[in-house]
Amino acid sequence: LTVGVPRETHENERRVAITPQNVTLLLKKGFSRVLIERGAGEGAQLLDDAYEKAGATLVDRDTVYSESDIVMKVRNPQVDGPFNEVEALRKDSTIISFLYPAQNKSIVDALAARGVTSFAMDKIPRISRAQVFDALSSMANIAGYKAVLEASNHFGRFLTGQVTAAGKIPPSKVLVIGAGVAGLSAIASARRMGAIVRGFDTRPAVREQVQSLGAEFVEVDFQEDGAGQGGYAKEMSKEFIEAEMKLFMEQAREVDIIITTALIPGKPAPNLITKEMVAAMKPGSVIVDLAAEAGGNCEATIPGQLANYKDVTIIGYTDLPSRLPTQASTLYSNNITKLLLSMAPEDRSFGIDFKDEVVRGSIITRDGEVIPPAAPPAPP
Ligand code: NAD
Repeated sequence: LTVGVPRETHENERRVAITPQNVTLLLKKGFSRVLIERGAGEGAQLLDDAYEKAGATLVDRDTVYSESDIVMKVRNPQVDGPFNEVEALRKDSTIISFLYPAQNKSIVDALAARGVTSFAMDKIPRISRAQVFDALSSMANIAGYKAVLEASNHFGRFLTGQVTAAGKIPPSKVLVIGAGVAGLSAIASARRMGAIVRGFDTRPAVREQVQSLGAEFVEVDFQEDGAGQGGYAKEMSKEFIEAEMKLFMEQAREVDIIITTALIPGKPAPNLITKEMVAAMKPGSVIVDLAAEAGGNCEATIPGQLANYKDVTIIGYTDLPSRLPTQASTLYSNNITKLLLSMAPEDRSFGIDFKDEVVRGSIITRDGEVIPPAAPPAPP
Protein backbone atom coordinates (compact mmCIF):
# COMPACT_ATOMS: atom_id res chain seq x y z
CA LEU A 1 0.00 0.00 0.00
CA THR A 2 1.13 3.51 -0.79
CA VAL A 3 0.39 6.28 1.69
CA GLY A 4 0.47 9.90 0.51
CA VAL A 5 0.66 13.19 2.38
CA PRO A 6 0.02 16.43 0.47
CA ARG A 7 0.86 19.92 1.63
CA GLU A 8 -2.11 21.54 3.39
CA THR A 9 -3.96 24.09 1.27
CA HIS A 10 -6.12 26.01 3.78
CA GLU A 11 -4.90 29.58 4.29
CA ASN A 12 -2.32 29.94 7.09
CA GLU A 13 -2.37 26.21 7.87
CA ARG A 14 1.10 25.22 9.05
CA ARG A 15 0.51 21.67 10.22
CA VAL A 16 1.36 18.52 8.28
CA ALA A 17 -0.31 15.12 8.70
CA ILE A 18 2.79 12.96 9.24
CA THR A 19 6.21 13.38 10.81
CA PRO A 20 9.38 11.76 9.48
CA GLN A 21 9.39 9.45 12.49
CA ASN A 22 6.00 8.03 11.55
CA VAL A 23 7.08 7.66 7.91
CA THR A 24 9.78 5.28 9.14
CA LEU A 25 7.24 3.43 11.28
CA LEU A 26 4.85 2.86 8.35
CA LEU A 27 7.68 1.58 6.15
CA LYS A 28 8.82 -0.72 8.94
CA LYS A 29 5.27 -2.08 9.20
CA GLY A 30 5.42 -3.06 5.53
CA PHE A 31 3.80 -0.15 3.69
CA SER A 32 5.47 -0.08 0.31
CA ARG A 33 5.90 3.68 -0.09
CA VAL A 34 5.17 6.92 1.71
CA LEU A 35 4.83 9.81 -0.75
CA ILE A 36 5.31 13.31 0.65
CA GLU A 37 4.59 16.42 -1.37
CA ARG A 38 7.73 18.54 -1.49
CA GLY A 39 7.58 21.26 1.17
CA ALA A 40 4.60 19.66 2.94
CA GLY A 41 6.20 19.96 6.38
CA GLU A 42 7.91 23.34 5.92
CA GLY A 43 5.36 25.28 7.99
CA ALA A 44 6.07 22.94 10.92
CA GLN A 45 9.88 22.99 10.48
CA LEU A 46 9.76 19.40 9.23
CA LEU A 47 11.95 19.68 6.20
CA ASP A 48 12.17 17.59 3.03
CA ASP A 49 15.61 16.34 4.01
CA ALA A 50 14.27 14.78 7.20
CA TYR A 51 11.49 13.02 5.29
CA GLU A 52 13.97 11.70 2.74
CA LYS A 53 16.24 10.37 5.49
CA ALA A 54 13.19 8.72 7.06
CA GLY A 55 12.61 6.81 3.82
CA ALA A 56 9.83 8.89 2.24
CA THR A 57 9.61 9.55 -1.50
CA LEU A 58 9.34 13.27 -2.22
CA VAL A 59 7.02 14.01 -5.14
CA ASP A 60 4.80 16.74 -6.57
CA ARG A 61 1.20 17.22 -5.54
CA ASP A 62 -0.36 15.42 -8.52
CA THR A 63 1.73 12.32 -7.87
CA VAL A 64 0.65 12.21 -4.21
CA TYR A 65 -2.97 12.11 -5.32
CA SER A 66 -2.63 9.85 -8.34
CA GLU A 67 -0.42 7.17 -6.76
CA SER A 68 -1.66 6.92 -3.18
CA ASP A 69 -3.99 4.23 -1.91
CA ILE A 70 -4.43 6.16 1.32
CA VAL A 71 -4.12 9.95 1.58
CA MET A 72 -3.59 11.46 5.04
CA LYS A 73 -4.33 15.15 5.65
CA VAL A 74 -4.94 17.49 8.55
CA ARG A 75 -7.76 19.67 7.14
CA ASN A 76 -10.66 18.54 4.95
CA PRO A 77 -10.00 18.21 1.22
CA GLN A 78 -11.13 21.36 -0.63
CA VAL A 79 -13.51 21.25 -3.58
CA ASP A 80 -13.52 24.99 -4.33
CA GLY A 81 -10.56 26.96 -5.53
CA PRO A 82 -7.95 26.31 -8.17
CA PHE A 83 -7.25 22.68 -7.19
CA ASN A 84 -10.11 20.30 -6.42
CA GLU A 85 -8.62 17.87 -3.90
CA VAL A 86 -11.58 15.47 -4.05
CA GLU A 87 -11.43 15.19 -7.85
CA ALA A 88 -7.68 14.61 -7.55
CA LEU A 89 -8.17 11.54 -5.32
CA ARG A 90 -8.02 8.19 -7.06
CA LYS A 91 -11.35 6.36 -7.25
CA ASP A 92 -11.39 3.60 -4.62
CA SER A 93 -8.70 5.33 -2.58
CA THR A 94 -9.07 6.27 1.09
CA ILE A 95 -8.66 9.65 2.75
CA ILE A 96 -8.28 10.31 6.48
CA SER A 97 -8.48 13.90 7.79
CA PHE A 98 -10.52 16.25 9.94
CA LEU A 99 -13.78 16.48 8.00
CA TYR A 100 -16.62 17.87 10.19
CA PRO A 101 -19.21 16.15 7.97
CA ALA A 102 -22.22 18.02 9.41
CA GLN A 103 -20.67 21.36 8.41
CA ASN A 104 -19.16 20.11 5.12
CA LYS A 105 -22.04 18.31 3.43
CA SER A 106 -21.02 19.25 -0.11
CA ILE A 107 -17.51 17.84 0.45
CA VAL A 108 -18.94 14.61 1.87
CA ASP A 109 -21.26 14.28 -1.16
CA ALA A 110 -18.32 14.90 -3.50
CA LEU A 111 -16.25 12.22 -1.72
CA ALA A 112 -19.10 9.72 -2.08
CA ALA A 113 -19.64 10.61 -5.73
CA ARG A 114 -15.93 10.11 -6.35
CA GLY A 115 -16.14 6.60 -4.86
CA VAL A 116 -13.64 7.44 -2.12
CA THR A 117 -13.63 5.90 1.37
CA SER A 118 -13.27 8.66 3.92
CA PHE A 119 -12.68 8.83 7.66
CA ALA A 120 -13.19 11.90 9.86
CA MET A 121 -10.65 12.33 12.65
CA ASP A 122 -13.25 14.49 14.42
CA LYS A 123 -15.67 11.56 14.58
CA ILE A 124 -13.48 9.12 16.51
CA PRO A 125 -15.72 7.90 19.35
CA ARG A 126 -14.69 9.00 22.84
CA ILE A 127 -14.06 5.56 24.29
CA SER A 128 -10.99 4.51 26.25
CA ARG A 129 -9.51 2.37 23.47
CA ALA A 130 -9.73 5.29 21.02
CA GLN A 131 -7.79 7.79 23.14
CA VAL A 132 -4.62 7.15 21.12
CA PHE A 133 -6.45 8.24 17.94
CA ASP A 134 -8.13 11.26 19.54
CA ALA A 135 -6.79 14.19 17.54
CA LEU A 136 -9.52 16.52 18.82
CA SER A 137 -8.13 16.12 22.33
CA SER A 138 -4.54 16.53 21.09
CA MET A 139 -5.46 19.80 19.40
CA ALA A 140 -7.56 21.00 22.37
CA ASN A 141 -4.60 20.39 24.67
CA ILE A 142 -2.41 22.57 22.43
CA ALA A 143 -5.10 25.26 22.13
CA GLY A 144 -5.36 25.49 25.92
CA TYR A 145 -1.59 25.86 26.33
CA LYS A 146 -1.28 28.36 23.50
CA ALA A 147 -4.23 30.39 24.85
CA VAL A 148 -2.24 31.11 28.00
CA LEU A 149 0.85 32.11 25.99
CA GLU A 150 -1.20 34.40 23.73
CA ALA A 151 -2.89 35.95 26.76
CA SER A 152 0.49 36.49 28.42
CA ASN A 153 1.88 38.08 25.24
CA HIS A 154 -0.90 40.67 25.28
CA PHE A 155 -0.87 41.26 29.02
CA GLY A 156 1.38 43.92 30.47
CA ARG A 157 2.41 42.13 33.65
CA PHE A 158 3.96 38.89 34.91
CA LEU A 159 1.65 35.99 35.53
CA THR A 160 3.68 34.90 38.52
CA GLY A 161 4.14 36.89 41.69
CA GLN A 162 7.65 38.04 42.67
CA VAL A 163 9.43 39.80 45.44
CA THR A 164 12.16 41.95 43.93
CA ALA A 165 14.36 44.82 45.11
CA ALA A 166 12.19 47.07 42.97
CA GLY A 167 9.00 46.00 44.68
CA LYS A 168 6.59 43.20 45.41
CA ILE A 169 4.57 41.97 42.45
CA PRO A 170 1.30 40.14 43.08
CA PRO A 171 0.49 37.12 40.91
CA SER A 172 -2.08 37.65 38.14
CA LYS A 173 -5.51 36.07 38.37
CA VAL A 174 -6.82 33.86 35.59
CA LEU A 175 -10.37 32.53 35.23
CA VAL A 176 -10.88 29.52 32.94
CA ILE A 177 -14.49 28.84 31.90
CA GLY A 178 -15.07 25.25 30.76
CA ALA A 179 -12.78 22.55 32.16
CA GLY A 180 -12.76 20.04 29.30
CA VAL A 181 -9.50 19.10 27.57
CA ALA A 182 -8.63 22.66 26.46
CA GLY A 183 -9.71 24.24 29.73
CA LEU A 184 -7.70 21.83 31.88
CA SER A 185 -4.66 22.41 29.68
CA ALA A 186 -5.09 26.18 30.08
CA ILE A 187 -5.45 25.79 33.86
CA ALA A 188 -2.29 23.66 34.07
CA SER A 189 -0.32 26.09 31.88
CA ALA A 190 -1.41 29.20 33.78
CA ARG A 191 -0.59 27.47 37.08
CA ARG A 192 2.88 26.53 35.78
CA MET A 193 3.43 30.21 34.95
CA GLY A 194 2.60 31.11 38.52
CA ALA A 195 -0.86 32.67 38.20
CA ILE A 196 -3.71 32.28 40.66
CA VAL A 197 -6.18 30.21 38.66
CA ARG A 198 -9.90 29.63 39.01
CA GLY A 199 -11.87 27.13 36.96
CA PHE A 200 -15.58 26.80 36.28
CA ASP A 201 -17.61 24.14 34.53
CA THR A 202 -21.24 23.04 34.38
CA ARG A 203 -20.16 19.45 35.08
CA PRO A 204 -19.39 19.14 38.79
CA ALA A 205 -17.53 15.91 37.96
CA VAL A 206 -14.50 17.97 36.89
CA ARG A 207 -14.13 19.71 40.27
CA GLU A 208 -11.42 17.31 41.44
CA GLN A 209 -9.48 17.59 38.18
CA VAL A 210 -9.45 21.39 38.46
CA GLN A 211 -8.37 21.24 42.09
CA SER A 212 -5.69 18.64 41.43
CA LEU A 213 -4.03 21.15 39.08
CA GLY A 214 -3.76 23.64 41.93
CA ALA A 215 -6.69 25.82 40.85
CA GLU A 216 -9.81 26.85 42.73
CA PHE A 217 -13.12 25.43 41.45
CA VAL A 218 -15.67 28.25 41.54
CA GLU A 219 -19.32 27.30 41.76
CA VAL A 220 -22.80 28.78 41.59
CA ASP A 221 -25.44 28.30 44.21
CA PHE A 222 -27.67 26.33 41.82
CA GLN A 223 -28.07 22.56 41.52
CA GLU A 224 -27.93 21.33 37.92
CA ASP A 225 -25.55 18.76 36.44
CA GLY A 226 -24.32 19.73 32.99
CA ALA A 227 -23.12 16.24 32.04
CA GLY A 228 -24.78 15.01 28.83
CA GLN A 229 -24.33 12.01 26.56
CA GLY A 230 -20.86 10.47 26.10
CA GLY A 231 -19.15 12.76 28.65
CA TYR A 232 -20.02 15.93 26.71
CA ALA A 233 -21.92 18.90 28.09
CA LYS A 234 -25.63 19.45 27.68
CA GLU A 235 -27.37 22.78 27.21
CA MET A 236 -28.12 24.34 30.59
CA SER A 237 -31.37 25.90 31.79
CA LYS A 238 -31.89 29.65 31.46
CA GLU A 239 -31.79 29.93 35.26
CA PHE A 240 -28.39 28.21 35.48
CA ILE A 241 -26.90 30.40 32.75
CA GLU A 242 -28.18 33.50 34.57
CA ALA A 243 -26.58 32.29 37.81
CA GLU A 244 -23.24 31.58 36.17
CA MET A 245 -23.27 34.94 34.39
CA LYS A 246 -23.80 36.66 37.72
CA LEU A 247 -20.70 34.84 38.97
CA PHE A 248 -18.73 35.87 35.86
CA MET A 249 -19.70 39.54 36.38
CA GLU A 250 -18.20 39.38 39.88
CA GLN A 251 -15.10 37.57 38.58
CA ALA A 252 -14.66 40.02 35.68
CA ARG A 253 -14.03 42.85 38.14
CA GLU A 254 -11.33 40.82 39.89
CA VAL A 255 -9.40 38.74 37.37
CA ASP A 256 -6.81 39.85 34.81
CA ILE A 257 -7.27 37.14 32.19
CA ILE A 258 -10.34 35.10 31.20
CA ILE A 259 -9.98 32.04 28.99
CA THR A 260 -13.29 30.66 27.74
CA THR A 261 -13.66 27.15 26.32
CA ALA A 262 -17.40 26.42 26.84
CA LEU A 263 -18.83 24.29 24.05
CA ILE A 264 -21.90 22.11 23.57
CA PRO A 265 -21.63 19.57 20.74
CA GLY A 266 -23.80 20.45 17.74
CA LYS A 267 -24.95 23.78 19.23
CA PRO A 268 -23.63 27.33 18.99
CA ALA A 269 -21.30 28.22 21.88
CA PRO A 270 -23.14 29.71 24.88
CA ASN A 271 -22.77 33.47 25.18
CA LEU A 272 -21.44 33.90 28.71
CA ILE A 273 -19.30 37.07 28.77
CA THR A 274 -21.30 40.15 27.86
CA LYS A 275 -19.84 43.47 26.71
CA GLU A 276 -20.86 44.84 30.11
CA MET A 277 -18.62 42.25 31.80
CA VAL A 278 -15.74 43.09 29.44
CA ALA A 279 -16.16 46.77 30.32
CA ALA A 280 -16.04 45.86 34.02
CA MET A 281 -12.55 44.32 33.63
CA LYS A 282 -9.46 46.33 34.50
CA PRO A 283 -7.78 48.17 31.58
CA GLY A 284 -5.14 45.91 30.02
CA SER A 285 -7.02 42.70 30.84
CA VAL A 286 -7.14 39.94 28.25
CA ILE A 287 -9.82 37.48 27.15
CA VAL A 288 -9.01 34.45 25.00
CA ASP A 289 -12.14 32.94 23.45
CA LEU A 290 -11.41 29.35 22.45
CA ALA A 291 -15.04 28.95 21.39
CA ALA A 292 -14.64 31.67 18.73
CA GLU A 293 -15.12 29.24 15.84
CA ALA A 294 -18.48 28.13 17.24
CA GLY A 295 -19.65 31.74 17.58
CA GLY A 296 -17.73 32.61 20.73
CA ASN A 297 -18.41 32.70 24.49
CA CYS A 298 -17.79 36.44 24.61
CA GLU A 299 -20.05 39.03 23.00
CA ALA A 300 -17.07 41.17 21.94
CA THR A 301 -15.16 38.35 20.19
CA ILE A 302 -14.43 38.68 16.48
CA PRO A 303 -13.76 35.10 15.29
CA GLY A 304 -10.28 34.74 13.82
CA GLN A 305 -9.14 38.15 15.01
CA LEU A 306 -7.60 40.20 17.75
CA ALA A 307 -10.10 42.78 19.04
CA ASN A 308 -10.14 45.52 21.64
CA TYR A 309 -13.20 46.57 23.62
CA LYS A 310 -12.97 49.22 26.34
CA ASP A 311 -9.20 48.65 26.80
CA VAL A 312 -9.55 44.87 27.05
CA THR A 313 -7.87 42.69 24.43
CA ILE A 314 -10.07 39.89 23.09
CA ILE A 315 -8.27 37.10 21.24
CA GLY A 316 -10.57 35.22 18.88
CA TYR A 317 -7.99 33.22 16.93
CA THR A 318 -9.47 30.03 15.51
CA ASP A 319 -6.15 28.46 14.52
CA LEU A 320 -4.30 28.10 17.82
CA PRO A 321 -3.05 24.51 17.18
CA SER A 322 -1.60 25.65 13.85
CA ARG A 323 0.24 28.41 15.75
CA LEU A 324 2.25 25.68 17.51
CA PRO A 325 2.80 23.76 14.29
CA THR A 326 5.61 21.37 15.15
CA GLN A 327 3.92 20.12 18.31
CA ALA A 328 0.50 19.97 16.67
CA SER A 329 1.88 18.03 13.69
CA THR A 330 3.71 15.60 15.98
CA LEU A 331 0.62 14.76 18.04
CA TYR A 332 -1.70 14.67 15.02
CA SER A 333 0.73 12.40 13.18
CA ASN A 334 0.82 10.00 16.13
CA ASN A 335 -2.99 9.93 16.28
CA ILE A 336 -3.56 9.38 12.54
CA THR A 337 -0.70 6.89 12.14
CA LYS A 338 -2.02 4.78 15.02
CA LEU A 339 -5.51 4.90 13.51
CA LEU A 340 -4.14 3.71 10.16
CA LEU A 341 -2.13 0.95 11.81
CA SER A 342 -5.23 -0.19 13.73
CA MET A 343 -6.94 -0.77 10.38
CA ALA A 344 -3.85 -2.01 8.57
CA PRO A 345 -1.31 -3.48 11.00
CA GLU A 346 0.71 -4.53 7.97
CA ASP A 347 0.76 -3.70 4.29
CA ARG A 348 -1.90 -5.65 2.35
CA SER A 349 -4.00 -6.19 5.47
CA PHE A 350 -6.03 -2.96 5.11
CA GLY A 351 -9.63 -3.87 5.69
CA ILE A 352 -12.69 -2.07 6.89
CA ASP A 353 -14.43 -3.75 9.78
CA PHE A 354 -17.76 -2.12 10.49
CA LYS A 355 -17.97 -4.03 13.76
CA ASP A 356 -15.01 -2.00 15.03
CA GLU A 357 -16.56 0.89 17.01
CA VAL A 358 -13.78 3.28 15.95
CA VAL A 359 -14.20 2.46 12.25
CA ARG A 360 -17.98 2.64 12.47
CA GLY A 361 -17.87 5.99 14.28
CA SER A 362 -15.41 7.70 11.97
CA ILE A 363 -16.21 6.31 8.50
CA ILE A 364 -18.09 8.89 6.44
CA THR A 365 -18.23 7.58 2.85
CA ARG A 366 -17.71 4.18 1.21
CA ASP A 367 -18.63 2.57 -2.14
CA GLY A 368 -20.28 5.72 -3.43
CA GLU A 369 -22.51 6.08 -0.36
CA VAL A 370 -22.61 8.47 2.58
CA ILE A 371 -22.65 6.27 5.68
CA PRO A 372 -25.26 7.37 8.25
CA PRO A 373 -23.74 8.57 11.56
CA ALA A 374 -23.18 5.88 14.18
CA ALA A 375 -25.21 5.80 17.37
CA PRO A 376 -23.31 7.55 20.19
CA PRO A 377 -21.17 5.26 22.39
CA ALA A 378 -22.85 3.77 25.44
CA PRO A 379 -22.17 5.69 28.67
CA PRO A 380 -19.27 4.20 30.69
P1 NAD B 1 -15.88 20.46 24.88
O1 NAD B 1 -14.75 21.09 24.15
O2 NAD B 1 -17.04 19.97 24.09
O3 NAD B 1 -16.44 21.52 25.97
C1 NAD B 1 -15.57 22.21 26.82
C2 NAD B 1 -16.14 22.34 28.21
O4 NAD B 1 -17.14 23.36 28.26
C3 NAD B 1 -16.79 21.08 28.78
O5 NAD B 1 -16.08 20.66 29.92
C4 NAD B 1 -18.21 21.54 29.12
O6 NAD B 1 -18.73 20.91 30.27
C5 NAD B 1 -18.02 23.02 29.31
N1 NAD B 1 -19.25 23.84 29.20
C6 NAD B 1 -20.31 23.71 28.36
N2 NAD B 1 -21.23 24.65 28.61
C7 NAD B 1 -20.74 25.43 29.61
C8 NAD B 1 -21.23 26.57 30.31
N3 NAD B 1 -22.42 27.10 30.04
N4 NAD B 1 -20.45 27.08 31.29
C9 NAD B 1 -19.24 26.54 31.60
N5 NAD B 1 -18.74 25.48 30.99
C10 NAD B 1 -19.48 24.92 30.01
O7 NAD B 1 -15.37 19.30 25.84
P2 NAD B 1 -14.09 18.38 25.67
O8 NAD B 1 -12.90 19.07 26.10
O9 NAD B 1 -14.08 17.88 24.28
O10 NAD B 1 -14.35 17.17 26.69
C11 NAD B 1 -15.52 16.90 27.38
C12 NAD B 1 -15.33 15.68 28.27
O11 NAD B 1 -15.08 14.51 27.51
C13 NAD B 1 -14.16 15.82 29.23
O12 NAD B 1 -14.57 15.47 30.53
C14 NAD B 1 -13.15 14.83 28.78
O13 NAD B 1 -12.40 14.25 29.83
C15 NAD B 1 -14.00 13.79 28.08
N6 NAD B 1 -13.20 13.13 27.03
C16 NAD B 1 -13.14 11.76 26.98
C17 NAD B 1 -12.37 11.13 26.00
C18 NAD B 1 -12.25 9.63 25.90
O14 NAD B 1 -12.70 8.96 26.80
N7 NAD B 1 -11.67 9.12 24.83
C19 NAD B 1 -11.68 11.90 25.06
C20 NAD B 1 -11.77 13.30 25.14
C21 NAD B 1 -12.55 13.89 26.13
